[in-house]
Amino acid sequence: MMGTEISVHLWHENAEEGMSLVEETFTEITRIEALMSTYIEGSEISEINRSAADAPVVAGDELINLILRSLDISVLTHGAFDITYDSIGQYYDFRERRRPDAATIQEGLERIDYRLVEVDRLEGTVQFLAPGVRINLGGIAKGYAVEQAVKLLRSRGILHGIVTAGGDSRLLGDRRGQPFMVGIRDPRNEGEVVLTIPLEDEAISTSGDYERYFEEDGKRYHHIIEPMTGEPAGGIRSTTIVGPDAVLTDALSTSVFVLGVDRGLRLIATLPDYEGIVIDAAGRLFYSDGLQPPEPEPAE
Ligand code: ADP
Ligand code: MG
Repeated sequence: MMGTEISVHLWHENAEEGMSLVEETFTEITRIEALMSTYIEGSEISEINRSAADAPVVAGDELINLILRSLDISVLTHGAFDITYDSIGQYYDFRERRRPDAATIQEGLERIDYRLVEVDRLEGTVQFLAPGVRINLGGIAKGYAVEQAVKLLRSRGILHGIVTAGGDSRLLGDRRGQPFMVGIRDPRNEGEVVLTIPLEDEAISTSGDYERYFEEDGKRYHHIIEPMTGEPAGGIRSTTIVGPDAVLTDALSTSVFVLGVDRGLRLIATLPDYEGIVIDAAGRLFYSDGLQPPEPEPAE
């Protein structure tokens, strides 16, 4: 679902009731996907992309609110996070190894600008201020989905669990008295982990250049697009953000990827409760202030 693998783990005294809550969680995520996927013709967001350049399009509160959140995060990240990236992003197809040519990028660049998305809260509408604009919530919807899923489980009395959608996980409580141990993948060695961190009751999101990509003439084309250039962001292999809200960890992992090591970690330093780990193109690890690496073992 949502173009990735979703998993739900929870502890319940009663196996049957536990399983039915797992089912309910998947139903909730299916509902969210049906609103927010650009791959579903009938989704609210597809309707916005078809018509919002011609006239305001009515959408439900939930989608409107997530679009508003996305626009706020664009301001916070100085445009690194921008849901209108899809004005060019739509021309990439990583499975088919397809990418836009220079002319298409040139033409699309002026349509990547979150200020072209106008939301009328009272009317509940979205309008694009220029033709050819497209939005895509791929950098934030999975975080939203896991956050909502955990809210649902908590409201049903669950105290311990994990909901994961691709690189986004939301932990509910702890692993019954111990923290969950969450591994950060090695971006260049599948199945390997570079670091494991203990976490409870937090969200953790990783964005990488290894999930969806193809290589051409030695260059890696991946799915995180730098809004200023319309091309995949360079300089980083993966970013991981930890914090209380999966919506923000998801959007920030994508943003820090675009911002690069220095600007990205400086942004994280301004956000209390959020920490980051970045792996650059040379494989070096960088940590935000609150997450200093473990002291090396003293030499004998
Ligand atoms: P994943 O989808 O693997 O969890 P991310 O959370 O980093 O990875 O999200 C990447 C997705 O974000 C892309 O597939 C695309 O849908 C979207 N995206 C790409 N570039 C941007 C950007 N500059 N701003 C907002 N969203 C983006
Ligand atoms: Mg993300």
